[in-house]
Order: sequence, then C-alpha cells, then structure tokens
Amino acid sequence: MGRTLVRKLTALALTGALALSLTGCGVQQKPAETRIFAMDTVMSLTVYGKDGQQAMDRAVDTIYRMDRTLSATDSASAVFELNNGAGEWVDMDPEAASLLDEALQLGEITGGALDVTAYSAVKSWGFTTGSYRVPDAQELRTLAEHIDYSAVEVDAEGARARLPKGMSLDLGAVAKGRTGDLLARQLQEEGISSALLDLGQSSIQAVGGKPDGSAWRIGLQDPAGQGYLAVVELEDMAMGTSGGYQRFFEHSGEVYWHILDPDTAAPARTGLGSVTVVSPSGLLCDGLSTALFVMGEARGTQFWRDHPELPFDVIFVREDGSVALTAGLEEAFSLAPGYEDREVTLLT
Ligand code: ADP
Ligand code: MG
Repeated sequence: MGRTLVRKLTALALTGALALSLTGCGVQQKPAETRIFAMDTVMSLTVYGKDGQQAMDRAVDTIYRMDRTLSATDSASAVFELNNGAGEWVDMDPEAASLLDEALQLGEITGGALDVTAYSAVKSWGFTTGSYRVPDAQELRTLAEHIDYSAVEVDAEGARARLPKGMSLDLGAVAKGRTGDLLARQLQEEGISSALLDLGQSSIQAVGGKPDGSAWRIGLQDPAGQGYLAVVELEDMAMGTSGGYQRFFEHSGEVYWHILDPDTAAPARTGLGSVTVVSPSGLLCDGLSTALFVMGEARGTQFWRDHPELPFDVIFVREDGSVALTAGLEEAFSLAPGYEDREVTLLT
C-alpha cells in the first residue's frame, strides 16, 4: 500500500512539472487577441496556442485579402467591374468566382430568397452609404424586376463571370461566412486547435473548443433589446445570424432593414426578429441565415426538412420574442438568465 502511495505521489509531481513546463512555453496561456475593421464591420479574433500570435497575424492578412477581393465598393475588385462594366465577361480571383458560383447555387435551392443581385435595391434604399430613403412603389417594382440571380453567368473554372448591364451584385450576404471557413482551415493547418473568430454582425467561427476542452458558449442577441437571450454551445462549428436589428433606419414611424425580399425589393417582413443558422460550414450559416430570414419560419422550416443533405440547424426568434429551434440544437441551446420565461418550440 505504501508503494502505491509513492507511485501516486511521483505521478502527481510529474504531472505538476509537466503543467509548469507547458505554462512556461505559453500553452493555454493568454490567447492572441485583436480587433480589426473589415468587411464594413468590427471583427474580433481570439487564437490560443503557442504560435497563436503568428497564426492570428496571417488570419488578419487573409481577412483583408478577402475583403478586397469580394468588395463591391473597391474599384479594383472584379465585383465592382462586373457592376460597372458593359455586360462583358470579367476575370475574377478564383476565390471570388467560386464564392459567386456557390452563392448562385444557394440562390437556386432557396428559390431565389438569397439573391446576390439584390444589390441595386440595397443601394437605392441607401444601405451602402447611410443616406437612407424609401423608394416609392413604382421604383420598387422596377428594382424588383432587375433582381434575378439566374441572369448572372459564372465560369468558376475559368474564374470569370458576366452580368447583364444595368444589374449589380454583391457578396455581402455570404462573404463573412466563406472567410470564416477559410480562416478555420488555415488556422487548423497551422496547428491551432482552439480559436474563436467573431467576424462581426453575428458571424462566428469556432475552431475546436475552449483550451480547457469545453465548448465555446456564444451569446444569441435579443433582436428586440440589448441583451443575450440564449447561449449556444459550439465546437468546430460556425454560427451566423441575420436580423432586422443589425442594420436599419426609421422613417415616419416605420422601421426598414437591410435584408430585402427579392420579390418586392423591400425589407423582408415575415414576423421574425432574427434567424440564426448553425453549421460546420460558415458559408451555409451566412447564406442560409439571410435566405431563411426572407423565407420566414414556415417556409424556412420546410426548407430545413426538405434538405437533410445540407448540414445545418436553425433558431428562429419571432417578433413576439418566442423562439423556435430545429431538433439538432436541442442540447446546445439554453435560454440565458433573465430570459427563462421565453416560449421555446422544438421543430422536428
Ligand atoms: P450582414 O451584412 O448583416 O451580416 P447578411 O449576411 O444577412 O447581413 O447579408 C446582408 C447583405 O446582403 C446586405 O447588406 C445586402 O448587401 C445583401 N442582401 C440583402 N438582401 C439580400 C438577399 N435577399 N439576398 C442576398 N443578399 C442580400
Ligand atoms: Mg448572410
């Protein structure tokens, strides 16, 4: 019995030494952290691991590169050229061409709820400049006639695309999600096993879990207030939220937001405060949160049931504050303190 105790003590001492030496190299020490402004929003990156700082610096480079490549406002970008050209083929960065291709496919499967060519309407409402205005009914009809993702031609292999003159597109609804996917892969290739990337406007990419092995706990914003109404636990997972509260203006007592219904060119109103999508794919989170916000809860839930091949789950927060979530999130979702009385429905 005495021998066992000695062995246990020795083991303990070794573990202690190991833990000390690991602390010495900075493992599980303070993470590398930064905040940057990119893609028209504030992003916060937290990267753990002993090479966290270098990995984070390279992540920041990737974000700026993607921002330039995917921007609709940078006059050097292919998207800008498409929007301001004569309807001819435009060479694109392969990354931008493949994202455009995938955004068009998401447009197709969401029945046009996600439509990258909503951009002319987004501009007319003033969401790109902050000089807001409410277009009249005739203008909205004309704008809606020019929203049609199927008019965009993309040759992903040849890295080029063509857009009819007079139309414009932007990748704002999917850019942050795709960037999150790229960053997660890049960080993992660099040996990072724990990072939390907040890419702004509620686009989250979680690499692994927390350094202690537990899941990241991400707050879900209350669309009608300042607080967090729920917590979602994530590991190696992305989460994206689209909501009317993220970018909006008020005019004559009415609130207008930046997610437009391609059928009307006006803000999508389906009784939802926000839609959150959780998926291993950041692109799906970003694209589908926008699309499902346009579709509304009934069509959105049916879309979720009809597409078991797409790995995603959804949280709908209704305008009345109640919540509905799809079955895959039952374990990961919990109401935050102070919000326990919210009605929660499980969708199956
Ligand atoms: P955020 O910019 O708040 O992260 P989203 O990912 O929901 O928001 O994307 C919204 C952006 O996408 C808008 O700023 C606009 O440029 C564009 N957009 C608006 N409505 C649509 C739509 N129905 N389909 C595709 N893009 C849209
Ligand atoms: Mg989106």
